[in-house]
Amino acid sequence: IIILYLINNLVSITLAKLTPWNNTTTSHSQTLPLELSTKLSLDTTSIKTASSDFGKLTHDHTPTAVFHPSTVSDIARLIKSSYTASSPFKIAARGRGHSVGGQAMAKDGVVVEMSSLDDVDGGRIRVCGSESLGFYCDVGGEKLWIDVLRKSLEHGLAPVSWTDYLYLSVGGTLSNAGISGQSFLHGPQISNVLEIDVITGKGDFMTCSKSINSDLFYGVLGGLGQFGIITRARIVLQKAPTRAKWVRMIYEDFATFTKDQEHLISLNHGPNYVEGYLIMKKSPANNWRSSFFSIHDESRVNSLASECGMVYSLEVVKYYDEFSRQTIDEELDEMFTGLSFKTGFIFKKDVTYMDFLNRVRTEELKLQSKGLWDVHHPWLNLFIPKSRILNFNQRVFVDIIKKENKSAGPFLVYPMTRKKWDSRMSAVISEEEGDVFYTVGLLHAAKNVEDCKIIEDQNKKILELCDEIGTEIKQYVPRYYETKEEWKKHFGAKWSVFEEKKAKYDPKMILSPGQNIFNFNY
Ligand code: FAD
Repeated sequence: IIILYLINNLVSITLAKLTPWNNTTTSHSQTLPLELSTKLSLDTTSIKTASSDFGKLTHDHTPTAVFHPSTVSDIARLIKSSYTASSPFKIAARGRGHSVGGQAMAKDGVVVEMSSLDDVDGGRIRVCGSESLGFYCDVGGEKLWIDVLRKSLEHGLAPVSWTDYLYLSVGGTLSNAGISGQSFLHGPQISNVLEIDVITGKGDFMTCSKSINSDLFYGVLGGLGQFGIITRARIVLQKAPTRAKWVRMIYEDFATFTKDQEHLISLNHGPNYVEGYLIMKKSPANNWRSSFFSIHDESRVNSLASECGMVYSLEVVKYYDEFSRQTIDEELDEMFTGLSFKTGFIFKKDVTYMDFLNRVRTEELKLQSKGLWDVHHPWLNLFIPKSRILNFNQRVFVDIIKKENKSAGPFLVYPMTRKKWDSRMSAVISEEEGDVFYTVGLLHAAKNVEDCKIIEDQNKKILELCDEIGTEIKQYVPRYYETKEEWKKHFGAKWSVFEEKKAKYDPKMILSPGQNIFNFNY
């Protein structure tokens, strides 16, 4: 009891140092309930982890404490303590810190390490449902997508929409959107959620769906952590395939490449996944996304890229199982009829469903062993209207990336379909009419601070150029907005609703301050 008393006093002192939202006073009288205070860490390791992320671009966003919840109600009580305090302190959920711009940080506040909720026995992922009503799984917001995949595969089931990398948290990706080559078919991950549990910025626990507390449901999905912390999501499952035919084709001409991408995503019973990326003359054909080509093929692709300066690789996957094993090759041939990739430059692999979905992890482990994973990542992710993608290729890929290239990428470009996004959700996509739009991911890795600076300047130049040429682009996982006006422009017609929901669910502006939406000068 004496130790707990001392810890509690320490916490009181610590919380007294937490910077209030409005920054006008510096003292607080609030204390956390005794049993919560034991879950706060002030040690250097916890603080250092909570002050860093995958980008390694944000410095000095040090929290005062890190909170390790054992239960969902711990999180509710932490938020309530801040909400009811005379000077509320800021709180950010940290999935796994795979943001690149400090979005999961809380300068002078409290970071909630969501991984502390992670249970070893897997009880926080439950697969439910039936053949007639449909299957789903209830998943803790702290869980990684790889855990969801493993658990659902035990039942022969799997989610339908993915991210390229599976070691991201469910809560973190649902706060953005969760996109990959399946999005054209099933929408982003947020389009495949049936229900969520949220702890709002007032510390209230709320369950929401399209029919219950729907404004919170739509707000939280793609809501950049602004309205509440997701503690459970109910995710749609379907019968899982067992294998994947994984194909890459090389194009010299961008217009032909995008035409074929758009053709593929328009097919009935077409591919399950379509992406694409640039291959530069100096970059390895296999960058961190996956070792795909054999040494011989890689050297052929590289020679072609050297000749042309840059080529485009279209990536397609068709899933199958034992029932379609006999016909899958015929299906692929039919699907590829009429495509205009460079003759002789089609490469095929046949892998398990799990190996395909978990492809980035294999590369991560290789890069980690070489010390190349834990580097700066000045990423720029964009949504581009279809009408501007050819222009974007010329002005950005050709005139900037190809000429000034400072990293091996990857540089992704692939189409998605607007009809698979629910416009009531907070996530923002390009506003142009028409179903197809593109996502571009300039996923740089910078060896050192100097290169990082050059790439950051290049990213800003690209954003300025987009403004100049009138390209109605949107940032995905946005991090370059510095003023309220820029955020208003980003959200467009959704801004007023976004602001209203903030006032309703997090009126003291406690949550996810690292997104820099409502607290520019914090
Ligand atoms: P964090 O970075 O920890 O948090 C992200 C934001 O969400 C923060 O504002 C945080 O406060 C908030 N947050 C975290 N947990 C919760 C919660 N439970 N409730 C409410 N808010 C919460 N994205 C894609 O869409 N597609 C991809 O293919 C893809 N590939 C990636 C590959 C790599 C190698 C990396 C590093 C990232 C990739 N991402 C991709 C980006 C990813 O979606 C975002 O980085 C996201 O931030 C998820 O990371 P995280 O789970 O660690 O969340």
